[in-house]
Amino acid sequence: MAAEIQPRPQARKPCLLSKIEAFQEVVTAAAIIPKEDGVISVSEDRTIRVWLKRDSGQYWPSVYHTMPCKFPLSVLMSALLLIPFSPSDSFTHQGRVAVVLFVLEMEWLLSTGQDRNFTWHCSESGQQLGTYRTAAWVSGLQFDVETRHAFVGDQSGQVTILKLEQDSCSLVTTFKGHTGNVTALCWDPAQRVLFSGSSDHSIIMWDIGGRKGTAIELQGHNDKVQGLCYASHTRQLISCSSDGSIVIWNMDVTRQETPEWLDSDSCQKCEQPFFWNFKQMWDSKKIGLRQHHCRKCGQAVCGKCSSKRSTIPLMGFEFEVRVCDSCHESITDEDRAPTATFHDSKHNIVYMHYEPTTGNLLTSGTDKVVKVCTGDDEFSTL
Ligand SMILES: [Zn+2]
Ligand SMILES: [Zn+2]
Repeated sequence: MAAEIQPRPQARKPCLLSKIEAFQEVVTAAAIIPKEDGVISVSEDRTIRVWLKRDSGQYWPSVYHTMPCKFPLSVLMSALLLIPFSPSDSFTHQGRVAVVLFVLEMEWLLSTGQDRNFTWHCSESGQQLGTYRTAAWVSGLQFDVETRHAFVGDQSGQVTILKLEQDSCSLVTTFKGHTGNVTALCWDPAQRVLFSGSSDHSIIMWDIGGRKGTAIELQGHNDKVQGLCYASHTRQLISCSSDGSIVIWNMDVTRQETPEWLDSDSCQKCEQPFFWNFKQMWDSKKIGLRQHHCRKCGQAVCGKCSSKRSTIPLMGFEFEVRVCDSCHESITDEDRAPTATFHDSKHNIVYMHYEPTTGNLLTSGTDKVVKVCTGDDEFSTL
């Protein structure tokens, strides 16, 4: 049941364009302004700066402002670029505002705060339209304009799907798949796929358009996932983690779901009992073995029957994982062809922004540096 394999060279390799190093504090959010060839940044010290690129190729600050409180960048973007919106008039969150999303088509501003209230406002009038209490502090927010579904990812690890009306909302369902906080969400309206990233190092691709309830894991990070962006024209998912790694996933390949882990009292290959199976242990007087699981077939196996490791890219495992001996034999070199490329941003990423018109990628690190890189064909390291 080999899945469709489309090995193709990934043209996109991040290539460093410029660095902005003049920050006193860590930049918590930043965005590329494509038309102006500029960058807008928000730092931990609440300063907002707009940087414009000079002929020398370097970015210089042109606007500098200190905010009265910690507002996410998107509020400012909305206020500056899009709408006559004054955040201080309409924001009723207690405590810190966590995530804000401006929906131009609806003229809605969706927001969540530390108070666990998810609210949506009319961006024209500033009037609050509705509110919903979330289970935990929200760390990811996405919206589908066509069906008016909001995707709300929180610190408990679940994603809540809400259908929004003009002044009310209904709970559609919740997705539970992560063992850590949801740290990032990304919605692709064309394929109708939701990506969620987590502090458990994994990304889950929820195939909503497919209507079969498929959820595919993508394992390519060794640290907390910090950002997710989807480049629709190249069908690539860009993810980053706090250890500085950037993974570019080819989403043109068909991946499979990982199997459910089977429960067994004994190894499903050699039939040796696992250590908690006291009865069989006593009956056969053997020392129990530790239970492991083959990532490919999901069978419960002992260490001896699963001594080998393999990548299984078409199941989302870009790193070597435990497989049973028979699955190891069945995996061909072709099956092991990577479906993602790995890059090192050389700083510990706290925030990432992808600008689709230029294809440029911005990362902000704990080193107080903002890097802008491009997806050039030419190979270059960051
Ligand atoms: Zn065994
Ligand atoms: Zn197996």
